[in-house]
Amino acid sequence: MYAAPFSYHRAASLEEAVTLLRELGEEARVIAGGQSLIPLMKMRMARPGALVDIHLISGLNGIERSNGELRFGALARHAEIEDSRVASTIPILHDCAAGIADIQVRNQGTIGGSLAEADPSGDWGTALMALETSVICFGPGGERTVPLEAFIKDAYTTVLAHDELISGVHVKLPPKGSGGAHLAFKRTAPVYPTASASVELTLEDHHLCRDARIVLGCVGLTAIRAKEAEVALRGKTLDEKSIRTAVDAARAAADPQSDMRGSADYKRVLVGTLVKRAIGIAARRARGESVPAGHEYAGR
Ligand SMILES: Cc1cc2nc3c(=O)[nH]c(=O)nc-3n(C[C@H](O)[C@H](O)[C@H](O)COP(=O)(O)OP(=O)(O)OC[C@H]3O[C@@H](n4cnc5c(N)ncnc54)[C@H](O)[C@@H]3O)c2cc1C
Repeated sequence: MYAAPFSYHRAASLEEAVTLLRELGEEARVIAGGQSLIPLMKMRMARPGALVDIHLISGLNGIERSNGELRFGALARHAEIEDSRVASTIPILHDCAAGIADIQVRNQGTIGGSLAEADPSGDWGTALMALETSVICFGPGGERTVPLEAFIKDAYTTVLAHDELISGVHVKLPPKGSGGAHLAFKRTAPVYPTASASVELTLEDHHLCRDARIVLGCVGLTAIRAKEAEVALRGKTLDEKSIRTAVDAARAAADPQSDMRGSADYKRVLVGTLVKRAIGIAARRARGESVPAGHEYAGR
């Protein structure tokens, strides 16, 4: 199906994009990589009267390390992050970027578009919540910085005002002794995962867990921080008992819906398994091992 008619406007700067959004009114939508918005428009589930294209705004696709943070421009593509040496210093970011859909989607889709879409099945919201992440928002009043957990309010809903854009995503570098993993289980590459889990650990003496963040994806209206599961590991020796307690708490924190990807019961079991595996990989990485990880496919 073709999209409903719309007018097209190309912004050359963030300021121009904000002005266009204001002038064109509530019917206007930003378009970046188009990998979520265009399919929705073709299915007529989205009918914006105007599109403000930001993908040629210069300076928005960088990936750099600065002031103890990794800084991504909103237009950094999944494929650019997958290939970035700078981004690979935090392995969870590579796990996430490399597993999203197929190479065509990864070449176009952006980190800013993913967070703005706030799809409950999206990978970036889950992976970035396992780290200390801030979203840089640009609007008529200039820039404001919003912690990721406050940025995503609900499924497909963020704190962005109509005339506000994401200009960047900043991720604090984890302390020494840290390691993380983002695992997602899906049926084929071009579908969203059935469930996902991101774990970031900081270890002392290779076994004592100083800090833990555990985030569940696709099993709620937003990514879920499994805080009881984090408590089960924080300050404890990582052993079979503490990991089992954390996995049980993660399963209890999940709030899945039955749908075409599986029943709620199945997703709850699956997310627990992903958390267990992610803890194991995160711990090995925190100890300095290089461990490949990422999306896993049914039948492999
Ligand atoms: C077949 C297929 C499979 C996919 N599988 C996965 C998957 O497994 N995991 C996953 O995480 N994602 C998946 N995706 C989604 C993909 O990652 C998209 O790239 C991403 O969700 C949106 O990024 P985009 O740049 O394409 O945004 P667009 O489609 O251009 O925009 C999406 C939304 O964000 C808004 N927006 C975009 N950029 C900004 C900005 N800078 N500031 C404010 N608002 C903005 C738009 O107005 C729109 O509402 C899949 C997509 C397809 C087509």
